[in-house]
Amino acid sequence: MEVKLASERGFCFGVRRAIDLAEKAVTECGSLESLGAIVHNRQVVDMLSARGMRIIGSLDEMKGDTLLIPSHGVKQEIMDKAEESGLNVIDATCPIVRNAQQVAHKLYEEGFMVLVFGDASHTEVKGLLSRAGEGAIAVTEVPDFSKSLRRIGILSQTTQSRKQFATFLAQLMDSELSSLAEIRIFNTVCDATAKRQQTALELASKVDLMLVIGGHDSANTKHLAEICRSTGVNTLHIETAGELNPSVYCGQSRIGITAGASTPEWVVEEVVGKLEQSL
Ligand code: SF4
Repeated sequence: MEVKLASERGFCFGVRRAIDLAEKAVTECGSLESLGAIVHNRQVVDMLSARGMRIIGSLDEMKGDTLLIPSHGVKQEIMDKAEESGLNVIDATCPIVRNAQQVAHKLYEEGFMVLVFGDASHTEVKGLLSRAGEGAIAVTEVPDFSKSLRRIGILSQTTQSRKQFATFLAQLMDSELSSLAEIRIFNTVCDATAKRQQTALELASKVDLMLVIGGHDSANTKHLAEICRSTGVNTLHIETAGELNPSVYCGQSRIGITAGASTPEWVVEEVVGKLEQSL
């Protein structure tokens, strides 16, 4: 059995930065509360929780005075409330997510109806919509436009697939554009995401089995698995080595491994170690 690792995998700089900020804050302040998971990875959350970080669901649950904003950002109204309440706010929003938030707000200010290509239930998308005015919507398919709509502005959730975003835009251009006079498009898919997707795609075409490691609620890990599956290769999305059943990998001659942007390298090493035990 040969095990090949994707050259671009695991922690991106936005996740690394968020973890560094959390580690520094928990050391200096003694306690820290994160508004939701700091990154979408249970092993990272558990590691920081062991050092004194607490996850809260809303500002009402604050017990201390130091609040961490996760890497995928929060709604503008939550940010405003946190700052007005006098809390020590540590903003770990990834700079690339923050840029997408600014794009969404600028489009709204300039009078565009904003479309965010992405998952409406994802925290990052909720944060983008909250800065884009009441008419803003999240989409994954081309919507029907009202006859009176004149200008739309489009951006993407940062962790979407560039290919799917491009397909969406092509379908939009091919649709009944009604009275639309202006369409403005911002490519806000992040480079770290795109590089992980590209190297996963290349690796998937050379192996018999792809293992995609990362949180089951991690959007970028789910997209990596979808991209690998699109090549036709047998693909498994696992969070830890414990989820890996020998019946899946025994007998496979080439196994490829990649990991989402919030997956620590030690989790990848555990998976590789389990595979090596069966050699
Ligand atoms: S995947 Fe991209 S946007 Fe998301 S935290 Fe990492 S660098 Fe930032």
